[in-house]
Amino acid sequence: MADCIFCRIASGEIPAQVVGRSEHALAFRDLNPQAPTHVLIVPLRHVDAVRDATGEDGAVLLGHVFQLAAKVATDLGLDASGYRLVSNTGREAGQSVFHLHVHLLGGRALGWPPG
Ligand code: 5GP
Ligand code: ZN
Repeated sequence: MADCIFCRIASGEIPAQVVGRSEHALAFRDLNPQAPTHVLIVPLRHVDAVRDATGEDGAVLLGHVFQLAAKVATDLGLDASGYRLVSNTGREAGQSVFHLHVHLLGGRALGWPPG
């Protein structure tokens, strides 16, 4: 989608601090980090949110996103301390970019439940 910021990052049109990639997904640092490590993992193909990743194609897409998230967490040394993966979906959850993404947060103790 031409007017989607994460599509433009995924295509390389807009720069980002890329920390990992696969054939189907890209991982880059969040512009406004909420933890010492804050990475966004997005599918290269545009999907608005998790609820739109339907059917077999959607299942494969979600698998690729989560597999890359876990690999990046390992690569960034977060396995021992732990980390959180979260995908805000819709207005009350605080989704502000409507291209499916998983936040990888780590490097500090994370409160539960989130605010
Ligand atoms: P959401 O609020 O939709 O769950 O998360 C969107 C995230 O994208 C926010 O944490 C925000 O800081 C991040 N973000 C928004 N625009 C950009 C951008 O242009 N580059 C990067 N790297 N992150 C962005
Ligand atoms: Zn997009």
